[in-house]
Amino acid sequence: MKIEIQRVTSWTDVLNAARFTQRLPLKSGEPSIKWKKKIIKAEHSPLRCLMFNIDFYDIPYYVSVHLVRHVHAQPFVSTSRPDIDGHQQPREEQHKTDPVNMRLFLNAQEIINISKVRLCNKAEKETQKVWVRAIYELSKIEPELAWACQPSCIYRGHCPEFKSCGFSDGELFPLKVNDYINNLN
Ligand SMILES: [Zn+2]
Repeated sequence: MKIEIQRVTSWTDVLNAARFTQRLPLKSGEPSIKWKKKIIKAEHSPLRCLMFNIDFYDIPYYVSVHLVRHVHAQPFVSTSRPDIDGHQQPREEQHKTDPVNMRLFLNAQEIINISKVRLCNKAEKETQKVWVRAIYELSKIEPELAWACQPSCIYRGHCPEFKSCGFSDGELFPLKVNDYINNLN
């Protein structure tokens, strides 16, 4: 598996969307880290101007099926059609574990939203592993945004799943909540 992330819009786009709503003149520079943290934490609509391509290579087909449920991300998945791609097995011999490539074209808010469910221990293990890795890659280019990517329990104080994943009852939980709050302040 390999994951590559590219930011395809700029923080200036986010800043200027916010300034537009305030009837302020547009700017050409990047906002400060302090401002970035503020808008990430507030999750105001200009954050949706920050767009990314997240490219997954060789992930199991069933992981791509989990990720396409997040309807505010535009997915592109490599074809499994034997009649188009001469390398594919006949349909009846293909497996849900077969590797596919997937691109998600999505905004910063959707990355935060996907993290709420796919970082929870109730997510299927391989899907959780893939998303943990995506956030790790994100942390290399957008550390502030990566800090905002947390499971639901960090947001809501408990695991909201039908049957709790149990993380919010563990010793690590209060420390993780503190880290989350401190790193975005
Ligand atoms: Zn949970």
